[in-house]
Amino acid sequence: MKPDSTGLPDFINGAKIWETVNSTAEIEPAHVHDILAKAAEAKGLSLEETASLLQVEDRELNEAIFETARKVKQGIYGNRMVLFAPLYITNECSNCCAYCGFKAGNKELLRRTLTADEIRREVSVLEDQGHKRLLLVYGEHPKFGAEWIAETVRNVYDTVSEKSGEIRRVNINCAPLDVDGFRKLHDVGIGTYQCFQETYHREIYAALHPSGHKKDFLWRLHAMHRAMKAGIDDVGMGTLLGLYDYRFDTIALLSHAAELEDKFGVGPHTLSFPRLEPALNSEIAFNPPFPISDAQFKRLVAVLRLSVPYTGLILSTRENKDMRRELLDLGVSQLSAGSRTYPGAYSDPDYDRPDVQQFCIGDNRSLEEVISEIVEHGYVPSWCTACYRAGRTGEHFMELAKKGFIQEFCHPNALLTFKEYLLDYAHASTQVKGNSLIGHELECFSEKRRGKVAEKLDRIDHGERDLYL
Ligand code: SAM
Ligand code: SF4
Repeated sequence: MKPDSTGLPDFINGAKIWETVNSTAEIEPAHVHDILAKAAEAKGLSLEETASLLQVEDRELNEAIFETARKVKQGIYGNRMVLFAPLYITNECSNCCAYCGFKAGNKELLRRTLTADEIRREVSVLEDQGHKRLLLVYGEHPKFGAEWIAETVRNVYDTVSEKSGEIRRVNINCAPLDVDGFRKLHDVGIGTYQCFQETYHREIYAALHPSGHKKDFLWRLHAMHRAMKAGIDDVGMGTLLGLYDYRFDTIALLSHAAELEDKFGVGPHTLSFPRLEPALNSEIAFNPPFPISDAQFKRLVAVLRLSVPYTGLILSTRENKDMRRELLDLGVSQLSAGSRTYPGAYSDPDYDRPDVQQFCIGDNRSLEEVISEIVEHGYVPSWCTACYRAGRTGEHFMELAKKGFIQEFCHPNALLTFKEYLLDYAHASTQVKGNSLIGHELECFSEKRRGKVAEKLDRIDHGERDLYL
């Protein structure tokens, strides 16, 4: 299939985005406080307001942004943290993205595409660790069409074992498909379709993607429109930070989100903000042309939380453990853990494989280690997939989320999935910490809700699984 973007409108107006960014360069402290007062109501921010907050360098004002982000995050999501792992299916790719280890022509990279049996083996390893939600990741190659991708999803869902359980939600990060292709993914029951525009700057995009399908900026820009037309209403978007000015790309990303909201009544389910990491034979990955500092990065996450309060924010293991820890409070709602970035990695005892992986990761800890740490900080790990399986997705999900549904349902469901984890996969020390956290959380519920949740926890203790409200 050759992409054809002929006639597709370019709704990203670069000049206007720069105007928005530049117009907010000199912002008065009083104006920052006004914006934060609005943000505290969790009703979101305009592009101008978002751009204004991104410019704030003053230490005290920054702290005020962080404080507001922490409150908004706590108010909407509480202390729940959704966990998942990426599963690389193939690193074969015919695109030439300058920043990626998988790029075509990278002769030193060992190419590998998992067979159905190898997929099952990888899934079994992840299930043994306790994972219930996976993000499947693919290079783009003419050998692999939508039907093939759909089959790999079936392989994952079919890998069920009495001892280790099953994967309950498969999300996908693959190259953009046409509407028929997306329909195949929808029919096979994917959760979120995820695709990053990388950068919204047309010239930079062209320079970084010199050949292959990905060269076509507009085909990629309209990927989410096609996915939504095909019935996939949870979509995940992002930009790759380090390629271009992060303020420009953030405002462009949010304009993209607004375009979807305008056309389809719902914006993205999640946003991602990966920073460039070293990759084999990629000069740009080692020396990003527009590096974003740690301070700017933290501010960006906090500002996104305020700008789109009900949109999930995903943090990967590209970041190191200390940065991840800080960002949880500032706005992140989903975390990958125990990740590896090459096909076959989970069945491989080595984790650092520059000869085959996409990029280096910053947090190499196991799922158990990540859980142990976040529980100590009072977070409840969640593998809940209830909404997606009950059809509460897209617009419907956002409506419910805005009515406080997340606390009402997601929180109890998080506890139920966490209880399963503690019983089936956790080390003894994590069990002790985890059970004590569950006990504490139950005390915070109303009597009626506590009764309902306690009854289900008891059934889980007695061997039932996959219970949710
Ligand atoms: N091949 C598909 C595509 O490009 O859309 C999907 C999978 S690709 C492996 C997933 C994402 O990895 C890309 O969209 C890009 O943002 C990110 N990525 C690529 N190279 C990276 C690097 N060196 N550091 C961090 N992230 C990178
Ligand atoms: Fe291929 Fe995706 Fe890597 Fe580009 S980012 S080279 S399309 S795997």
